Amino acid sequence: MGTLKRGAAAAAIGLIAISSSTTAWAEFPDKPITLVVPFSAGGPSDKIARDLAEALRKPLAQTVIVDNTAGAGGTIGAARVARASPDGYTLLVHHIGISTAPALYKKLPYRTLEDFENLGLINEAPSTLIGKPGLAANNFADLRKWISSNDGKVNLANAGVGSASHLCGLVLQATLPSKMAFVPYKGTAPAMTDLMGGQVDLMCEQATNAVPQIEAKKVKVFGVTSKQRMALPALAQVPTLAEAGLTGFEMSVWHGVYAPKGTPPPVLARLHAAIRAALKDPELIQREEALGVRIVTDARLEPAEHKKYVEGEMIRWARIIKDSGESAD
Ligand code: ASP
Repeated sequence: MGTLKRGAAAAAIGLIAISSSTTAWAEFPDKPITLVVPFSAGGPSDKIARDLAEALRKPLAQTVIVDNTAGAGGTIGAARVARASPDGYTLLVHHIGISTAPALYKKLPYRTLEDFENLGLINEAPSTLIGKPGLAANNFADLRKWISSNDGKVNLANAGVGSASHLCGLVLQATLPSKMAFVPYKGTAPAMTDLMGGQVDLMCEQATNAVPQIEAKKVKVFGVTSKQRMALPALAQVPTLAEAGLTGFEMSVWHGVYAPKGTPPPVLARLHAAIRAALKDPELIQREEALGVRIVTDARLEPAEHKKYVEGEMIRWARIIKDSGESAD
């Protein structure tokens, strides 16, 4: 074959390859999509992922499954998605912990900024400081006294190193003279069971999971981590932790969606458009808002802004974590 003919044949093969893969993308998704949640079922991350999965069914015309791959503060589930095939069928729904793990873990099984494609930041919720039902304190001032009279004996549950509950615990610990013991779980759903049963004393948990238990009087609430008091009936009388005397204590937990690095741009575009449409679903909005969660549709829902936000949070939390002296293997 002459050079020209070989060139034409190669171009034709190239065209066939491009057009067949474009067709494959055009058909995306043609099988169920899995949302990996790096915490146990029944917690706040699981809740937003399940609400999102439900709302994504219509815009994607596909089944969306939630799979909990819990442990090590969310790093095991994140690593699973970082290593998954970049075809858009395995996605990660992770929270603020994706930004804090790099400062906490000596070795991470993935690279936070390099191994994922950002698909958007989707929600944020304040946390609440809650205690076991029989705890001998009814407000934050009493709680402070109770913690100092039980110096070293108070247990604070969390969802593992780098989880939102752990971070909130670190910030809280930094404001108190007495030492508390951190008790890690694979998510805050099992931690909540133990808190209600009195096996642990305290937990800093997103409103999402705390509100139903506060309403049912199964836990005591001492404060919210939002700047202003929350409007929800269950929390309207609850002071902010800043009001209760913890100056500068403000924290909200956000979730984002991620695909493995190298997912084709048309697939990412299709997924992002579907997420944007899902977040407009009135039922999703209502279900999340009833638990104190704000659905995010500001600039951070844009993939590039989401990535910038993750970077900013990495820097912000690296400072707080360094001051706390906390780390994990
Ligand atoms: N709320 C948890 C945390 O503290 C995670 C979860 O179970 O959703 O990070």
